[in-house]
Amino acid sequence: MVALSESQTSSSGSDGDDTTETEIEVNDVTKDGEKADTSQFELLKVLGQGSFGKVFLVRKVRGRDAGTLYAMKVLKKATLKVRDRLRTKMERNILVQIKHPFIVGLHYAFQTEGKLYLILDFLRGGDLFTRLSKEVMFTEEDVKYYLAELALALDHLHRLGIVYRDLKPENILLDAEGHISLTDFGLSKESLDNDEKTYSFCGTVEYMAPEVVNRRGHSTAADWWSLGVLMFEMLTGNLPFQGQNRKETMTQILK
Ligand code: ADP
Ligand code: MG
Repeated sequence: MVALSESQTSSSGSDGDDTTETEIEVNDVTKDGEKADTSQFELLKVLGQGSFGKVFLVRKVRGRDAGTLYAMKVLKKATLKVRDRLRTKMERNILVQIKHPFIVGLHYAFQTEGKLYLILDFLRGGDLFTRLSKEVMFTEEDVKYYLAELALALDHLHRLGIVYRDLKPENILLDAEGHISLTDFGLSKESLDNDEKTYSFCGTVEYMAPEVVNRRGHSTAADWWSLGVLMFEMLTGNLPFQGQNRKETMTQILK
């Protein structure tokens, strides 16, 4: 077991860059009025390493839900750039709004001086990326099932005015029964405005709609494009647009 609490070096505004602290402050998310902190969670293992932080499997050791397993996403404030801070805040804000069977649930959110913590449903089925790499492609029955659940999740987000934008196999997790759960809301945007900064750094281009690739501004239709790319991949084991490099892939998508 690893101790979670950090040494309490208390210094205000120690950030050293021009980011105001208010940009990163997220409000605590509590469950039945219970406020969480790091001392209430026992670290069990690392579940994943994303672009912005680590995700751990944790067990709640105190409170009404003691014994419950959760996934804990930890983000170091110091390593987050201004736009990533906004992303992080966005992720938390979006998750608070959403309650849907096919979207990861946020149970608690809290922060210390240096880190942000999101306590999420633990999805023990792994991600679709891992399943896809092992099995290469799925049966039509399985694909139908995943697409139907994804369509419901996306439709729900769109009704709330959220474009998910980062639909790809590693952000689709599976629960113990094999149902999907969308995770990673760092890229989603609540409003449909066109903020170049927010997505200019995107890692994966293969699932992006042309209007996202060329940054002409996009709407909810971009998510349906990505769903189509995903369908193609799940059925054939290949991506519909894949060049030798990022630029070539982008050209293929645009043409
Ligand atoms: P990032 O924003 O850095 O990409 P993600 O939220 O996508 O981070 O998480 C990174 C990885 O951690 C995922 O691809 C997945 O393998 C694992 N992971 C994330 N959330 C959970 C969860 N709730 N349950 C189980 N594993 C998770
Ligand atoms: Mg991710």
